[in-house]
Amino acid sequence: MFFAVVAGNQSCDRNSLSDMKDFDVVILNGRVIDPETNLDAINNIGIKDGSVQLITVKNINGRTSIDARGFVVAPGFIDIHQHGQDRENQIYKVMDGVTTALELEMGTADVDNWYREREGGALINYGVSVGHVPLRMKIMGDPGGFAPVSDAVYKPASDQEVEQLKKGIELGLSRGALGVGFGLMYTPAASRWEILEMFRVAGKSKGPCYVHMRYGGLKEPNSCIAALEEVISASAITGAPLHVVHVTSLGFGYTQRILQMIKEARSRSIDVTVECYPYTATQTTIESAVYDEGWQEKFGIDYGDLQWADTGERLTEESFARYRKTGGMVIAHSISEEIVKSTIADSIVIIASDGTLAGGKGHPRGAGTFARVLGKYVREEKLISLSEGLKKITLMPAKRLEDIAPMMKNKGRICIGADADITIFDPDEIIDQATYAEPAKYSFGIKYVLVNGIIVVKGGQLQDGICPGTAVRGAIK
Ligand SMILES: [Zn+2]
Repeated sequence: MFFAVVAGNQSCDRNSLSDMKDFDVVILNGRVIDPETNLDAINNIGIKDGSVQLITVKNINGRTSIDARGFVVAPGFIDIHQHGQDRENQIYKVMDGVTTALELEMGTADVDNWYREREGGALINYGVSVGHVPLRMKIMGDPGGFAPVSDAVYKPASDQEVEQLKKGIELGLSRGALGVGFGLMYTPAASRWEILEMFRVAGKSKGPCYVHMRYGGLKEPNSCIAALEEVISASAITGAPLHVVHVTSLGFGYTQRILQMIKEARSRSIDVTVECYPYTATQTTIESAVYDEGWQEKFGIDYGDLQWADTGERLTEESFARYRKTGGMVIAHSISEEIVKSTIADSIVIIASDGTLAGGKGHPRGAGTFARVLGKYVREEKLISLSEGLKKITLMPAKRLEDIAPMMKNKGRICIGADADITIFDPDEIIDQATYAEPAKYSFGIKYVLVNGIIVVKGGQLQDGICPGTAVRGAIK
């Protein structure tokens, strides 16, 4: 790691800082693509002590060498919206080329404990925000799981509870949280003032606010347009950077208008970023406020568009009512392919998965998001170029995090001093294999993945029993 300091505040360059020949790993004859410098050429890479130390056309040697002829050598993919943070999920992530997966939308109520639980035991790099939703659940004693189900959903916070929430967010940020997570649709009783108070705390330390907006869909007065106005205003008022999560699953037919509004806000120097996942269906818990009365009209769908994640069955009025009582994950086929495509093609949009798998069940985005972008949308449909596709899953997410976590300046790039988080794939083969019926299928065409210089996927095979992932964390004050 001893070159990390050098890379910290400098842009990538291709000159070696070292004449050493004894590399730990060398990657030979691959097509090296760095989205920051637009490097796209056959090169050899020398890695030592977890970082990239040489990029050269000359012959180099190392203790381990990887033959990358015919393959693309890219920065490891960065997923800034990944809920599943256990071993099962990390395996699917890394088999999809991901070297860093962050839980930012929901976050945690206890930042120290969250990091402590993963230290030394992670396959890939991990990180978390402090979450308004879990804090609200804790303070109000809501018994929900992923999403709240009682007071945290339906009860306005008292002045005293707002103070407790502010303290919780302040504490989380002081313990190195990567910003503040919000699921406003899951906490409809949280007033606009309560949210503004949370943004004020975030703004003081320039922590980005990652927001699942209050409303989705088209129906006024509670439309996605109104929902975006709320959080852009909060960002403008408080100075907290804003990141809008999974825009297509809230914007639906209005996604282009949402993107237009975000660009207009950016042109006024408001720091707003946005992400989408490359699928036409959403997934969340059926017992959450998302499926409170009026959901059909709000999302423009009906019972038959809902699919029970556990069994794959399509729902009816009867089974909807039954499952809403027991709880669990439901998939909604509610986004048109046209909207998915125009959103992916937009240059400001980051790609992130919103993924989580549990016992092999879930939405295919948990296992296939990244290979799907590069296989379906880059190669097959030629919607965007390979370098544009890579930029959306490496450099752009790294840049979103750099202010709160300067260590991200060493990720999302391949340059001298960068962390050796590297994904090597076959551009002619790469494709997702996870489907709604079989979500727990590894992506195809990911050949090698290195996390902090350690090979975790080798010849397409997961290497067992190693935990090279480290924490992505902001400053601890
Ligand atoms: Zn969400």
